[in-house]
Amino acid sequence: MKKKQPTGRTVLLFSGGLDSVCIAGLMQPDVLLRVPTNSDYDMREAVKAGELAQRYFPNSYYNVAPLIDLHPFERPDHIVPLRNLYMVTHAAQYGETIWLGAVEGDRTLDKSKPFIHMATEMLNFLMQNQHWCERHRYLVLLPVKHMTKRELVSWYVESRLDTRALTESWSCYKSTTLACGDCKPCIRRWVALTLNGVDPGVYDSNPQTSRTLINMRAAAAEGAGNYRGREDADLLEVA
Ligand SMILES: [Zn+2]
Repeated sequence: MKKKQPTGRTVLLFSGGLDSVCIAGLMQPDVLLRVPTNSDYDMREAVKAGELAQRYFPNSYYNVAPLIDLHPFERPDHIVPLRNLYMVTHAAQYGETIWLGAVEGDRTLDKSKPFIHMATEMLNFLMQNQHWCERHRYLVLLPVKHMTKRELVSWYVESRLDTRALTESWSCYKSTTLACGDCKPCIRRWVALTLNGVDPGVYDSNPQTSRTLINMRAAAAEGAGNYRGREDADLLEVA
């Protein structure tokens, strides 16, 4: 049997959320990979990601990976331990250059530089030349981790890409119909779009008066750059 060959493809983990939509437009990966995880918002994400890929990113190949059921491990705050380790391992089946859409304000360690370094080393060790596969050269990257969410949106807008894709992006963890306007991803998305003058679309409740925004602004004011780095200033500016 022939040895498994590398594909030479770039793969973006694509959820249809604001960050992955910006990266899809700006960097045009070969593959947009959605990985279903059986989360509460999975069905909504499935519809949104498929629609966005088809409408705005026809030059990338949209692929839906087999389900990884992470629902049993999801915490009430919606953090799934090791989530991106599962995601990266899955993406490694589709290409060797793997992009994760994390920005400066993301705090979990599975969106950190040490993680992508170790993930690259691990994949290259497992997929070295051996009896069943040729040497694969993996590179797991966080291409926009040095930017805030606001800066990422600004880059997208300045590149004259279609901002309707941003308006139609979906980052909500709570709702499956209208974005709730009160979960942290909804607030962070709203702040980044509003500060760039992009229509954030319709929310179930107004993010501007949300209790979550008040709490996040308090954490940003108290932490002075220690809550979500430079995103703290954006939270305070949006008022
Ligand atoms: Zn929400």
